[in-house]
Amino acid sequence: IRVLGIETSCDETAASVVALDGTSAPEILSNIVLSQIEEHAAFGGVVPEIAARAHVEALDGIIEAALADSGMALGDIDAIAATAGPGLVGGLIVGLMTAKAIAAAGNKPLIAINHLEGHALTARLTDGLDFPYLLLLVSGGHTQIVAVRGVGDYQRWATTIDDALGEAFDKTAKMLGLPYPGGPNVEKAAASGNAARFAFPRPMKGSAQPDFSFSGLKTAVRQAATAIAPLSDEDVADICASFQAAVADALGDRVGRALNRFRQEFPGKADPALVVAGGVAANRTIKATLEALCVQAGFTFVAPPLKLCTDNAAMIAWAGIERLRAGMAEENAADFVPRSRWPLDSISAPMVGSGR
Ligand code: ATP
Ligand code: MG
Ligand code: FE
Repeated sequence: IRVLGIETSCDETAASVVALDGTSAPEILSNIVLSQIEEHAAFGGVVPEIAARAHVEALDGIIEAALADSGMALGDIDAIAATAGPGLVGGLIVGLMTAKAIAAAGNKPLIAINHLEGHALTARLTDGLDFPYLLLLVSGGHTQIVAVRGVGDYQRWATTIDDALGEAFDKTAKMLGLPYPGGPNVEKAAASGNAARFAFPRPMKGSAQPDFSFSGLKTAVRQAATAIAPLSDEDVADICASFQAAVADALGDRVGRALNRFRQEFPGKADPALVVAGGVAANRTIKATLEALCVQAGFTFVAPPLKLCTDNAAMIAWAGIERLRAGMAEENAADFVPRSRWPLDSISAPMVGSGR
């Protein structure tokens, strides 16, 4: 099976061809990602109108490049998979309409994919993981723990009650005068900082409610920064290091809880695994915390290559293959409407067709 994947839900325009032949390991034949970060940097965040226009301008060329890179012609492709939500609706429309046009012209099936399902199934593309496993998705828009039980069978165990973790990094960076995107710059500054200088709160730590919260931490950072302003480089570094330590600690608490629950719910699972996905998975302090936690709890820690952890189209093509293989992709999604909101645990029903 060869599937062309298209991703336009946020600020990257992406296309990819993924192939699965018989029982051998799947192969990413091409994976093109064009990030719009520079177009949004001046605004300190993603601007939906700019994103939609950038997708319109770039998508055709990105798809051509993905096909050329893969050595495939459109005729060699078995199906088109496109992100249909959740995300910014302008970008979703661009991607899904383009996919529909290609599918119609080539008489191929179109598979409408939930972006989060793409993230959830990536570890099967990269590491061949068996169901069930636990997913921690930490990006600019999402902070979730999901039990991945099968194709189309996802149970959300935790989510954020306020900010997403990547968003918390980005807002903290902005407060401290660090450039967008904040995550990498906070990590860089933190490297030379003193993590013990500020005792920031660990939101939700020890709570019986499984969810995340980061807005209280953000407020604490703002108060600390205001109290000692103007900030020297050393102050900024110390705040970043202390912030990162608080985040890692809070995250570890929440994830540890989910590992326990996984043990209880899947006692027969021989080699349980925790997968991280999303841009925040690039953070080395967070990764080290999670890895230590997994070692302690007897879980395998799986961190797919960053290029497949952040937004990309290979994961969308792969989700398409998984759906085809599971018989969960109906032939005609010509009338599927993009959804800006589309929770992962609501998609157990086949997602292709009239947008049920
Ligand atoms: P979505 O939530 O829809 O998947 P997104 O574009 O916001 O989309 P990603 O591209 O996966 O998500 O991740 C971007 C986020 O990851 C940003 O908030 C960024 O600050 C954060 N990030 C990137 N690198 C790091 C890092 N080293 N440490 C912490 N956060 C990081
Ligand atoms: Mg992004
Ligand atoms: Fe994403």
